[in-house]
Amino acid sequence: MARTEVSGRLKWRVATLTDKRAETSTATTLTFEVDEWPGHKPGQHVDLRLTAEDGYSAQRSYSMATPADGNKVVLTIQTVNDGEVSPYLTEMLEVGDRIELRGPIGGWFVWDASNPAPVLLLAGGSGIVPLMAMVRARVRGERRTPFRLIYSIRSSEELMYGSELRMLPGGIDVSYRYTRRAPDGYRGRVGRLTPRDLVEDGWPADFAPACFVCGPTGFVEAAADMLVADGHLPPRIKTERFGPTGTA
Ligand SMILES: Cc1cc2nc3c(=O)[nH]c(=O)nc-3n(C[C@H](O)[C@H](O)[C@H](O)COP(=O)(O)OP(=O)(O)OC[C@H]3O[C@@H](n4cnc5c(N)ncnc54)[C@H](O)[C@@H]3O)c2cc1C
Repeated sequence: MARTEVSGRLKWRVATLTDKRAETSTATTLTFEVDEWPGHKPGQHVDLRLTAEDGYSAQRSYSMATPADGNKVVLTIQTVNDGEVSPYLTEMLEVGDRIELRGPIGGWFVWDASNPAPVLLLAGGSGIVPLMAMVRARVRGERRTPFRLIYSIRSSEELMYGSELRMLPGGIDVSYRYTRRAPDGYRGRVGRLTPRDLVEDGWPADFAPACFVCGPTGFVEAAADMLVADGHLPPRIKTERFGPTGTA
């Protein structure tokens, strides 16, 4: 029974692109309607499959950017310039086109809205995507769980969901770490995430927050090490790496 359920959830389903909009100059949000989508939790991802006419196919993983909403699946894809799949999705795929999705996948890197623990989100670049699904779930939910998001990007041109992040309700605090170029008027330091950022903009370890870290492998390893050094217990630190498929 359980096995049937799992394989049923993980079958390939046809997904039709219904909306496509630019998130930044290099990232695009794609909305799909998926046949018999079983729903998902904030933090989960899908496998996406493209198949060429000659039968060649390529598969990549992408996180859901929004909480469950009927048969809608929303993905935000950062174009990797020399990549095989991401440029196709962001530049070639058009509204009405169909691809295949399989999921939802992942039972560990998910935020459980019934958990009252404060939440600390650490995002590096496109690692914001599954964390944004958690933020959006918190905004839609009834419980006012305290959230803090530290979002590390090279410059403000890479900022995804900028206007939405500026308009979040009280209880969800967002701070930015610019690693290369800060926008005019920014008073913080420019450079990579430091332990001091966690002290200033995170939660103290004795608040026992649920920590979610997502981004490129180097960012995830550095941030998780800093959390452990700061006294956060490893079981409370959940990580997702956006490295090339196969090494994640
Ligand atoms: C669980 C999971 C969830 C993910 N969610 C998202 C998401 O929400 N949004 C998103 O944009 N991506 C996400 N990714 C990354 C995504 O799966 C692909 O790796 C990415 O889109 C690149 O694929 P590609 O075919 O364009 O590049 P490839 O053809 O696979 O790689 C081409 C070149 O780019 C390098 N490369 C590959 N991936 C990356 C990367 N992510 N960053 C930097 N260099 C890279 C490779 O080493 C290679 O040199 C996720 C990955 C995982 C494992």
